[in-house]
Amino acid sequence: MRKIQMVDTKTQYLAIKDQVDTAIHDVLDSAAYINGKAVKDFSQHLGSYLGADHVIPCANGTDALQIAMMALNLQPGDEVITPSFTYIATTEVVALLKLTPVFVDVDPVTYCMDIESLKKAITPKTKAIVPVHLYGQAAPMEQIMAIAKQHNIYVIEDNAQAIGCDYTFSDGTKKKTGTIGHIGATSFYPSKNLGAFGDGGALFTNDKALADKMAMIANHGQSERYYHDVVGCNSRLDSIQAAILKIKLAHLNEYSKARQAVAKYYSHAFSSIEQIVIPATADYTTHVFHQYTMQLKGVDRDKFIAHLAAKDIPCMIYYPVPGHLQKMFGGQNNQHLDLPVTNTLTPCVCSLPIHTEMDAEQLAYIVEGVKSFFN
Ligand SMILES: *Cc1c(COP(=O)(O)O)cnc(C)c1O
Repeated sequence: MRKIQMVDTKTQYLAIKDQVDTAIHDVLDSAAYINGKAVKDFSQHLGSYLGADHVIPCANGTDALQIAMMALNLQPGDEVITPSFTYIATTEVVALLKLTPVFVDVDPVTYCMDIESLKKAITPKTKAIVPVHLYGQAAPMEQIMAIAKQHNIYVIEDNAQAIGCDYTFSDGTKKKTGTIGHIGATSFYPSKNLGAFGDGGALFTNDKALADKMAMIANHGQSERYYHDVVGCNSRLDSIQAAILKIKLAHLNEYSKARQAVAKYYSHAFSSIEQIVIPATADYTTHVFHQYTMQLKGVDRDKFIAHLAAKDIPCMIYYPVPGHLQKMFGGQNNQHLDLPVTNTLTPCVCSLPIHTEMDAEQLAYIVEGVKSFFN
């Protein structure tokens, strides 16, 4: 049996090796390593795939979030609402820009931003909401957009884990996640659902003025070469990465289906185990399963992990410490914050290997390994 890994980028590469190698060599031949044709091509393809008018490529997903917040002219002290139950990048950039992160709770079923918690967190200082489409399914965007509109607040979607996910509005309209808020931000980190062979990120918007501003910020605040209008940063997607991403984008729907098939297999196998809560998908969204994250109830999680490790089955905790309890935000001083779902999920979540290249033998072995813990 092939070694089981959380992600297997090597096997995925081998399946499209000829195309990828040719694309890389084309960039080498063109010598346009930065901002070359490959970058424009990929941005265009991604825009039409997502249904976004403007795509601004950048260096990584963290930069994308930062550039989005810089473009909105937020001022020190302005409040930005984000879930605590997410990867640190979402909240880190808020603090980096001297904005005030306001942590809200997540829904116990979807693990995405909880609407009641969001409503309670809004103050006159709230300037932006950053919902995260965690693990691959959408946050309740229709409700979030309605609340944002009512209070005149911007919405930046952190789409790093859910590229390709479809959101269905109550009138039946469908949109891709990342194109519903004022700005969408994503990451092409190798292990993401659309992963480069290095770092990469992008911003999406349908607002031309915001798109121009973000492109300017990502390029040293430059409007014209050597004329710098605003303080920006230097955040670029390499041409080689863009060329690889264009090839992978053509496979993204098929990759999502492969992930969904793995999730379905696991969920079917675990549905009879009382101590496992299998991930659920809300009816307004598809789920592209960046992670297969289950909850272990009444189980010693360390023992469970050790049991799997002894069988060479990896698993991961996403994430062992929620944002509000990270030292960078004051750690234990934030224990009084009212985030009951986040605090309940953190000690019991556990993510199993899920990627596009898992075979039947590996899946059966993992399921047996998990089941044997409960026998
Ligand atoms: C990966 C990730 C990011 C950051 O992306 P990088 O490309 O690693 O900077 C941001 N938010 C979430 C939810 C992520 O999973």
